[in-house]
Amino acid sequence: MAITDRQTATLALAHALSAAERGLPVIPLTARKLPALPSPHRNDDRRPACRGACGLPGHGVHDATTDPAAVRALFAAAPWATGYGIACGRPPHHLIGIDLDVDPTGGGDSAVSLRQLALHHLFTIPPTVTVLTPSGGRHLWLTGPPGIPVPNSASRLAPGIDIRGTGGYLVGPGSATRHGRYRLAPGTAGLPPAPCPRALLRLLTPPARRRHSAENPDPDRGRGLVRFVLAACEGGRNTRLFWAACRAYEHGYGDALADALTRAAVRTGLTEREARATIASAARLFRC
Ligand SMILES: [Zn+2]
Repeated sequence: MAITDRQTATLALAHALSAAERGLPVIPLTARKLPALPSPHRNDDRRPACRGACGLPGHGVHDATTDPAAVRALFAAAPWATGYGIACGRPPHHLIGIDLDVDPTGGGDSAVSLRQLALHHLFTIPPTVTVLTPSGGRHLWLTGPPGIPVPNSASRLAPGIDIRGTGGYLVGPGSATRHGRYRLAPGTAGLPPAPCPRALLRLLTPPARRRHSAENPDPDRGRGLVRFVLAACEGGRNTRLFWAACRAYEHGYGDALADALTRAAVRTGLTEREARATIASAARLFRC
């Protein structure tokens, strides 16, 4: 292993230990931001739904720990790690990550969308730990109350805003990735993660909805999404289409609404090919 690789791995471990000391459960990550340890069950055709009960490492976010000896052991088993992930939703902080992407589909600014949500739902984002991503995005760290699992979501709140909740993880500051290093935003290093505002928490934990079958889409909801796409102006067309398609797929009637969304998008000036591609990328987010 080259000296620089060893330095990167050592630095990743140091950052991970420091996060663990603050009560944040960590796992080693590769430069692609994936859990560094392969599953011990990867050659097992039965693919047991093991979350670490077998006692071996390699269960992704389920390996995350705040125990310094266990952190060292995980990194020793994965000397190729260049960074670390912080498990969300775990005590004591019950971390919630607000992941603000940059310009997700060529028309939106997720930070502006978050401000609009805040205005509309009467909350303010408190000063809190903020991590700058190599692509120019940012992660806001908030804490949730115990006992209220926050689901992970992609662009559900608004285009370009992803939520890392229970079962998800955030790339920790100091991690090196193929695209650069994650770092703390100036002035936020000394802050504790702030509690998630109640109004935002309500948006993040929507009540369980009935899943509509593809044969039986919710007609009102579907019409609303089509209207939303039709109201797009140039520049925001693709973003609106992406958002509407995500909502339709999230609620299980994406395929049923795809033609109507495509027709609406074509009326706003997108080509059918562009519209289909955008809808397909939304569909991929909601298919396992
Ligand atoms: Zn296992």
